[in-house]
Amino acid sequence: MHTIIEPFKIKSVEPIYFTTPQQRQNILQKAFYNPFLIQAKDVMIDLLTDSGTSAMSSEQWAGIMRGDESYAGSESFFRFETAVQNITGMPYIIPTHQGRAAEKIIFSIMGGKGKYVISNTLFDTTRANIEFSGAEAIDLLCAEGKLPSVPAPFKGNLDIEALEQFIMAKGARRIPLVIVTITNNSGGGQPVSMANIRAVKSVCNKHHIPFFIDACRFAENCYFIKTREDGYANKSILEIARELFSCADGCTMSAKKDGLANIGGFLAMRDETLAMQSRNLLIITEGFPTYGGLAGRDLEAIAIGLNEVMEEPYLKYRIRSIEYIGEKLDTAGVPYIKPTGGHAVYLDASAFLPHISPDQYPGQALCGALYVAGGIRGVEIGSVMFGKYREDGSLIPAGMELVRLAIPRRVYTQSHIDYTTEVIINVFSQRENITGYKIIYETPYLRHFTARFESL
Ligand SMILES: *Cc1c(COP(=O)(O)O)cnc(C)c1O
Repeated sequence: MHTIIEPFKIKSVEPIYFTTPQQRQNILQKAFYNPFLIQAKDVMIDLLTDSGTSAMSSEQWAGIMRGDESYAGSESFFRFETAVQNITGMPYIIPTHQGRAAEKIIFSIMGGKGKYVISNTLFDTTRANIEFSGAEAIDLLCAEGKLPSVPAPFKGNLDIEALEQFIMAKGARRIPLVIVTITNNSGGGQPVSMANIRAVKSVCNKHHIPFFIDACRFAENCYFIKTREDGYANKSILEIARELFSCADGCTMSAKKDGLANIGGFLAMRDETLAMQSRNLLIITEGFPTYGGLAGRDLEAIAIGLNEVMEEPYLKYRIRSIEYIGEKLDTAGVPYIKPTGGHAVYLDASAFLPHISPDQYPGQALCGALYVAGGIRGVEIGSVMFGKYREDGSLIPAGMELVRLAIPRRVYTQSHIDYTTEVIINVFSQRENITGYKIIYETPYLRHFTARFESL
């Protein structure tokens, strides 16, 4: 087998500034040990997120010039609308400035006190928007999804039996929607199978509960369906995507992921009344329905990106380059969620740093160590992000303590990836020296963005 090469050439480059471990130690301390508070120029390999960090293609940059900035009825909007309709088959397409704006609108309308929104695993902003509406956010992930070291093809699946039981226990009237995240970002970037999507749809239909998809990484999920699920090997990504969306009543999307754009998102749905309610809120918070908080040029870039992201040479390279990191980590026994997901490698910080208890935030400590050792920026997905407190102030830890290394789309080359794995393996060999953290400042919602820490 040949090496799978990056299916693109580089036309424009950005510098990486090199720093020493000593300099990074000082930078980290000044940033209160929170990677979100480090300046990007002080990061060498930035794996904080794959959101909005994609390299756009020359076609997309050409689209930026073509962008029609008319306030109402811009041509770029119609190209955007057609691109989204073509993939989702949904008639009502509402642009938003990013994914969470779509979430804010849908949960303001459908959420509220006394209700439960069920998911395989909600992403942090989705969960926050549900909780902000007064509703409760419920994750019902399949059993395999909770075992980091045990590989399975579709670890993002929703637990269908638990869904049935939950509906029985609480009553369908209190469940305004079920939303399945593809791929399951917070649960390891793991895909959801078509069979599972169909099963969720059928339970929802039976109980007359609307079924939505959080479609941020729909193309990566469809590629996993193509390569792992029986009956899809000969279907195109577009065909698989259409089948998948045909099961849903609506979707939210951040175009900063599989839109290959630097900003943008949308809400799509089949119900006209819901679309009208959504547009009313959109006008108050985002903008007129043909731009929704975006410039015409952004809509143009998204329309092009949504098609480029479904190209198979791209998806093959994308999924393979992340698998490749996993294989390198295996050679040194570094613990991570297996198999690797679609957009990221999730280091298992509890297994990596067994000497640090959850209330000393092993994921955050590992992030700090990777930054100092190699200028690599990852993000904690564990008790900093999802932890809660008991009444006595003690921590209710998250289900898993992870560090996500998200790979920006079309940005880093194989040597950047090789360097990254070398740094991780080096940190792993000296893991006993890493110490935990204590939180010294935090906010009530999405605390991980701004929290400050002290090294213990
Ligand atoms: C990024 C993301 C969101 C939120 O989108 P933003 O554009 O960052 O607001 C929602 N769900 C998932 C699964 C995501 O990855």
